[in-house]
Amino acid sequence: MATELRTGSKSLRAIMGQLRSKGVGVEGENQKETLRVLCYDTTSWVSDAFQPAVKAFNADPENSFQMMVDFTTERGRLGVNMIAQRAAGFDRVDTKAARAYGMTVARVPAYSPYAVAEMAIALLMAVNRKTPKASSRVKMANFSLDAGLLGVDIHGKTVGVMGTGKIGQILCNIILGFGAKLICYDVFQNEEVKKAGGVYVTKDGIFAQSDILFFMMPLLPATRHTLNMDVLPKLKKGMMLINTSRGGLVDTTVLLQGLRTGVISGVGMDVYENEQEYFFQDWSAKSIQDPDLTALLGEPGVVMTAHQAFFTKEAVNKITQTTMENLRDFKLGKREFDHPNNCIPKDN
Ligand code: NAD
Repeated sequence: MATELRTGSKSLRAIMGQLRSKGVGVEGENQKETLRVLCYDTTSWVSDAFQPAVKAFNADPENSFQMMVDFTTERGRLGVNMIAQRAAGFDRVDTKAARAYGMTVARVPAYSPYAVAEMAIALLMAVNRKTPKASSRVKMANFSLDAGLLGVDIHGKTVGVMGTGKIGQILCNIILGFGAKLICYDVFQNEEVKKAGGVYVTKDGIFAQSDILFFMMPLLPATRHTLNMDVLPKLKKGMMLINTSRGGLVDTTVLLQGLRTGVISGVGMDVYENEQEYFFQDWSAKSIQDPDLTALLGEPGVVMTAHQAFFTKEAVNKITQTTMENLRDFKLGKREFDHPNNCIPKDN
């Protein structure tokens, strides 16, 4: 059994050619013995994590499969029966189209909510205490405290969390540890968060009262551009915004305006509205063509990371393990839309 995992990016036609040249059938062929899995959009951490997992999986004759790279999700007519996402979000697959093609779509619903909540706090502290700037100045032997390094205590501040699900709940507990006042907004109230000391307020209330506001909700039509032109005047002047969820929650033009007018004193962002073109790649020797991204990178109040909030050893292990389990379940015939890791909402 060949097991192959490589990185790169090719067109669908090239992939199909590659498969056929390796003797791998594509459509209407016997699929009983081998599950053929193509790994799309792989980066080095994916290869590093999945190589040993694939080997272990193939050691069990029940679970053998062949793994290749460079796959596209447009192959509904080409014999693809399953999309096994390595992510939690369900905003990246056209689930209606998948259902129309009879494709099972699985995801990794939770890998490490701690990783994301902890990164959100890391971003807050970086924005507030200016640690990226402070560290680079010290490395240049500049030990002065001039040039805007002054921060504030989190203790005693009003901290808002929008979206108190798995990650939001963990974040709430960390915030309470600071001795901050915790206010929350969600379409469903989380009893555990209330018991711990969180107080649910209205959407306008959370905008008006938060010294620090975390976005912890998914990207949905209802949450797209939660930070928009109507909301900007409602924010507490000088507030800090932290977004580790999805870039589309923020209208970047409005964010830039908020930063330039001082309504928003700083933003910690692990996600960016138009990140697809840039994130997970090295652009350091290339010219960035996105004026909003360039503007954000030049703003002193911005601390940006490239979608790495999930990126801990524990989370990568969980992503690998759950993805392999999803593949095994699929191979064992659990292909229905009620699969526990299926990402397609029932009403979609
Ligand atoms: P979750 O589903 O457990 O929680 C989401 C919460 O948002 C739920 O309580 C839900 O009721 C709430 N919500 C839904 N619609 C809302 C609305 N209109 N307003 C306010 N709240 C609303 O999800 P989670 O596991 O906590 O993940 C949250 C988000 O974090 C994910 O959707 C994903 O976008 C993001 N995420 C980012 C990374 C990263 O690496 N940056 C990693 C994992 C997840």
